[in-house]
Amino acid sequence: MYNKAYMVPNPMTPNQVLIFDTDICVGCNTCVNSCPAGVLVPNPEKGKPPIVLYPDECWVCGCCVGDCPHPGANKLLHPLNLRMGWMRKATGETYRVGMKNPPPRNKKPAIGP
Ligand code: SF4
Ligand code: SF4
Repeated sequence: MYNKAYMVPNPMTPNQVLIFDTDICVGCNTCVNSCPAGVLVPNPEKGKPPIVLYPDECWVCGCCVGDCPHPGANKLLHPLNLRMGWMRKATGETYRVGMKNPPPRNKKPAIGP
């Protein structure tokens, strides 16, 4: 029985949080150092994008994107539940909670016991 562990660069997972544009990223690892959750590790190949080693630990804080000195080199993919929005039936207008002109509160009684 072999007890070996392997790191695979940026695997496709259900929770893929960050994608890199290999044409723009220069592998400077600024994002690795910015990440407060230790999600990223430097790529062993110099000049290549970092490895997203722990995608499930991502806080979706955006520090890695905000601190990147090469705009467009990395992009955050928000989880589906954070992309949620609402639509006004009357106008078809979409909005998110916290917007300037939120719709009136829902006065219907809660469903369930
Ligand atoms: S994504 Fe940006 S900060 Fe991260 S290694 Fe690439 S160029 Fe550097
Ligand atoms: S969004 Fe935040 S926690 Fe997630 S990889 Fe970027 S810096 Fe790390």
